[in-house]
Amino acid sequence: MSLKLTFYGAAKTVTGSRFVLDTRRSSILTEFGLFQGHRKKSIEINSRIPEAALAADAMLLSHAHIDHSGNIPRLVAAGFGKSIYSTPATIDLAKIMLLDSAEIQERDAEYMNKKHAKREEALVEPLYTVEEAQAAGYSFKPLNYHETREIAPGVKVTFYDAGHILGSAQVLYQVKGRRILFTGDLGQPRLPVVRDPERVPDPDIIISESTYGDRTHSPVEEAKERLQVLLQDAYNRGAKIVVPAFAVGRTQALVFVMHELMGEGRLPSMPIWVDSPLSLEATQVFRKHPECFDKETWEYLDRDEDPFGFFRLRYVKKVDESKALNHISGPCMIIASSGMCEGGRVVHHLKNTITDPNNLVIITGFQAPGTLGRRIVEGIETVRLYGEEFPLNCQVEVLNEYSAHADKTDLLDLFKGYNPKKVKQVFLVHGDERQTAALGAAISELGYQNIEIPEVDQGFELR
Ligand SMILES: [Zn+2]
Repeated sequence: MSLKLTFYGAAKTVTGSRFVLDTRRSSILTEFGLFQGHRKKSIEINSRIPEAALAADAMLLSHAHIDHSGNIPRLVAAGFGKSIYSTPATIDLAKIMLLDSAEIQERDAEYMNKKHAKREEALVEPLYTVEEAQAAGYSFKPLNYHETREIAPGVKVTFYDAGHILGSAQVLYQVKGRRILFTGDLGQPRLPVVRDPERVPDPDIIISESTYGDRTHSPVEEAKERLQVLLQDAYNRGAKIVVPAFAVGRTQALVFVMHELMGEGRLPSMPIWVDSPLSLEATQVFRKHPECFDKETWEYLDRDEDPFGFFRLRYVKKVDESKALNHISGPCMIIASSGMCEGGRVVHHLKNTITDPNNLVIITGFQAPGTLGRRIVEGIETVRLYGEEFPLNCQVEVLNEYSAHADKTDLLDLFKGYNPKKVKQVFLVHGDERQTAALGAAISELGYQNIEIPEVDQGFELR
């Protein structure tokens, strides 16, 4: 009854999620994410397609984030022609995110090639093109939450809500009498817009994420109050507020909370711009999938209100409209990507904001080492933008509570929900070493045994 699980990414790190489950009769690929890190290493890792991934009989995608989906176009272009199953909302989000990613890859290659041409070095190719991203879109097949389907001989799968972003799923595989749970990225309970994570019944084997295996967030309710106080202060002094935010998930959650605060009369009305074409497209996908919303969001719909649009809010699509925001004075708020300030429109808003001590920058998500966002959080004195130094004089606040990831308490709650004696093996992925090891130690104290922290390319026989 041989059953083998091999990890090809997101092992002892948070990006590049992918693994293959091999039953001898058929094999299933789960995720094919982009590795994100230093440029040279990223290109090397992302260019390589493992044989086992290409040879799989079917594929699953837990949610649309690029670290889980971002290399699918390259896989398909390399000859993978099988179906990729995910929830309908994930399909819609993945299509726009992969196109956006392809545009970035093409722009990056073009930029590199200008430099390479000057130095007479070999030209680089984008990881994949817009055309390849479009073609990959045709491989997706919808599978609704709670619908069980045999996607390859002897392998049944069911999606359960992961409460992480719109359409996100935990996956239950039923194969050779075993019930294998993959948490995907797990959300934290009480996040705005999406439902809370569901409990998947009775797994024998658990593959769990561990992004915040050693960290706890303060409750979402407190975050709303903190945001209110911060924004009221900023309003009183006429501040321009810039919020770097990921285009999918964080932006919609923030817009939802701003709508609530202003609607409840807890904040004076101020103009808000969401300056990101991808955010606008993603928000349109959110509007198309109310089946994924939580109760509070449904209450807005019941009152005929759009939870992602209200009269104070404008979505900015065109570049010249984005530039026009440079000349607008506060109080006002601009939400723009990228979330880690590494590129995108947020960079020119930072340039126009950070030198004035009256202004406010709110950091809302995880900032990877080496990114501009991380340096801003660490409080450096000057910031390098477009090749020039600017003093960082404005107020900077970090609001991690809207993280779409479960924290240590939430992850432990998941494990407390199962009987450690009935779970034969646990695999911890999608976390840096310290976070993963801390979660491993904590669940071992709960009585779990056979806890594995896989290396890249490491395979395991399942019990
Ligand atoms: Zn994610």
